[in-house]
Parts: sequence; structure tokens; C-alpha cells
Amino acid sequence: MKPELIAPCGMNCNVCRGVLDKSGKAKTCVGCKPRGKGCTYYGGLCSKLKNSEIEFCYECDDFPCDKLKRLDKRYRTRYNYDFIEALEFIRDNGMEAHLARDMEKFKCPDCGGTICIHNGKCYSCQTIDS
Ligand SMILES: [Zn+2]
Repeated sequence: MKPELIAPCGMNCNVCRGVLDKSGKAKTCVGCKPRGKGCTYYGGLCSKLKNSEIEFCYECDDFPCDKLKRLDKRYRTRYNYDFIEALEFIRDNGMEAHLARDMEKFKCPDCGGTICIHNGKCYSCQTIDS
């Protein structure tokens, strides 16, 4: 997993369908951060992210703000992934430990590939009909 694919909000773009899917069938993406807009969701709404004043939301005085809480809740509910917890883990334990933990969490039991957070499938060994 690549550290530059951890978005400011705590999203792990390494496991995003847009990044994993190379079939051309789905909308593809290089990851929030490599896109260079600070934040795909709140770049226009959050001046600190837009102006690169902070790299991750946990560096902000308002962390966790209402916008982040809404996004966090959506992902906790739909995909069982906790952005705020991830950001706190990165802040307290470092990026390397976070990536190691997510690597285990999203590891395919059959081939060791990466499971997609959005559809729960392994892009290395499963057939994806997107
Ligand atoms: Zn697999």
C-alpha cells in the first residue's frame, strides 16, 4: 500500500474501487492526493485542504469537523471503515503502522491481494462485474 494514497480525510485510496479497477469499465482514479486537489470531497469547502495548509484533517484545530464527521459516518455505516479512528491512529502510531494494519484488514485470504472497500472483492483473483 502506498502512503501517498491515504487521503486527508483518512480514506485509504489503496482500497478504493476507482483506484483498483483497471478494466476501464468503472470510473478510474489515481487517488485523492495524487489528483492534487487536496480533497476530492471538500477541496472547495475546506480552505485549509484547498490551500494545502494541512496534510491530514487531524492537523486541524477543528478536527473532527462536522463535514468530516458526516463523511466518517457514511463510511462507517456503508463500508465499516472509520476515517476519524484511522486519522487518530496515524497521528498516534505513524503512517507505516497504519498501512500495515490496513494491509491485514484488506488482505485477500485466497491470494494475498487487496480487497476493495466498496464492493468487498479482490481485484487480483476474483471476477469483477462492474
Ligand atoms: Zn485474491
